Amino acid sequence: MSDKTPTKMTMGNSRFLHEACQALGYSDQVFALLSGASREFKIQLPLLRDDGSLEIFYGYRVQHHNALGPFKGGLRYHPSVNMRDTHTLAALMSLKTALVKVPFGGAKGGIDCDPRKLSHRELESLTRSFIQKIHRGIGPNRDIPAPDVGTNDQIMAWIQNEYSKVYGHSPGVVTGKPLLIGGSEGREEATGNGVAIVMHAHAHHQAESLEGKTVVIQGFGNVGMYAAKAFRDMGMKVLAISDSKSGLYDETGLDIEAICKYRKSGARVSSYEGVEKITNEKLLKLPCDYLVPAAMGGVINETVARELKAGVVVEAANSPITFEGDKVLITRNIPVLPDILANAGGVIVSYFEWVQNMQQMPWEKEKITEELNSKLLKAANHVFAVATGKECSYRRAAYLIATKRLQDAVAITS
Ligand code: NAD
Repeated sequence: MSDKTPTKMTMGNSRFLHEACQALGYSDQVFALLSGASREFKIQLPLLRDDGSLEIFYGYRVQHHNALGPFKGGLRYHPSVNMRDTHTLAALMSLKTALVKVPFGGAKGGIDCDPRKLSHRELESLTRSFIQKIHRGIGPNRDIPAPDVGTNDQIMAWIQNEYSKVYGHSPGVVTGKPLLIGGSEGREEATGNGVAIVMHAHAHHQAESLEGKTVVIQGFGNVGMYAAKAFRDMGMKVLAISDSKSGLYDETGLDIEAICKYRKSGARVSSYEGVEKITNEKLLKLPCDYLVPAAMGGVINETVARELKAGVVVEAANSPITFEGDKVLITRNIPVLPDILANAGGVIVSYFEWVQNMQQMPWEKEKITEELNSKLLKAANHVFAVATGKECSYRRAAYLIATKRLQDAVAITS
C-alpha cells in the first residue's frame, strides 16, 4: 500500500450514525443531512524542501456541523490523511461535542505529510502556508483547530501566530497551545486523563475496582502516554505499550516512569531496551482486563475482534474498531467504551482553553480537573443509563444521545 492510499479506517462511523438515525425514526434525508458536511477545503501546499527540491502536499479541513457552536476539531499530520477520512472524523467530532455538551460543532483537518520526515523549518513553512490559505475559514467564533496525530503545541503556536498577523492577537483561534501564549493547564494530558476517568466511571458502574487490573495500550503518543500514567496512578498494571514500529511487553507490568523519561529524550519507545518486544498485531490479542487502542483507526477489524482476549475495549483513538469488528465484540459480550465518550477529555479541556482565551482569564489547574471530571462523569453516567434502559451497547447509547442532540440543534437553527 502506498503512503497516500486512502485507508478504510473510519468508515464504520457513518454506519453507526445510520443505525442511530433509524432507531430514532429519522428519515433518510435527516441521515444525509447529519452525515454530510457543511463545507470542505482541499488546499495545494507546495513546499520547497531543504535540499532544494519541490514537494506538493495537500491540506484538508472539513467543517461538519456548527448548530451547537463554532466548528471544532484536530489537525492530523500523517501520510494517510485524505478527504474521505477527514469527513468521517469531522462527523465524529460533532457527535462527541454533542454527547459531552460542549458548545461546539465538529470539524477535522490535516496535511498528508509525515512530520518525522520534515525538518523544523519545513514543518513551520508547511503549517504557515496552510493557515495563509484557510485563514478566512477559521477563527475563534468560526472554526478552532487543535492537535491530533502528528501535531503538537508548537504547531498550534505557529497557527495562532500566522492567524494573528491578519486579525490581531487571537489566542482563541486554536487550542492545545503552549501555556505561555494562552494554552490551558491540563490540556496536554486531558485526553489520556479523560480515558482513565471514563474507565473509572465504568468500573464504578459495574461495582468493580481498577486496582490491580491489567491494561494493554496501543500507541504511546499524547493520548497513550498520559493514559498510561493515569492507569499507573490508579494502581493498574500496564502490561504492554507500542509505537508504530512495535511494542514492549512485561507480564509483571512495565516501568511507565522510566519509559516516559526515555521517550522524552526523543527516542522511540520501541527501541527501549531490557524488556520483551512484541508486534502491534500480537499486542492487540494479549490477555488483559482492558485493551486501549490509542493510535490509528480501523485496527480492530472482524478478525482481530474475534481473537482479542480483553475484558473491555476502550477507544482512546478515534474509530479504532471497524463496524464489523464492533458487531463481533457485541456478539462476544465484550463491552466497548466508545471514542465519542472515552477520548472526549481533549475537546472538553480545549473548550475550557477557549473560554479562558475569550475571557482573557486563566483558570487554576484544580478548576480544570474538577470541571473535566464533572462533564465526563455526567456524560458517562448518561450513556450507562441509556445502555441499561435500552439493553444496548454503550456505543449505541452514546450515538442515540448525541445524534438526537445534534438533530434537535440542526432543526432549530435551519
Ligand atoms: P500522537 O501522534 O501523539 O501519537 C500517536 C501514537 O500512535 C504514536 O505513539 C505512534 O507511534 C503510534 N502509531 C502511529 N501509527 C501506528 C500504527 N499503525 N500502529 C501502532 N501505533 C501507531 O497522536 P495522539 O494525539 O496521541 O492521537 C492518538 C489517537 O487519539 C488518534 O486516533 C487521535 O485521533 C485520537 N485523539 C487524540 C486527541 C488528542 O487530544 N491528541 C483527542 C481525541 C482523540
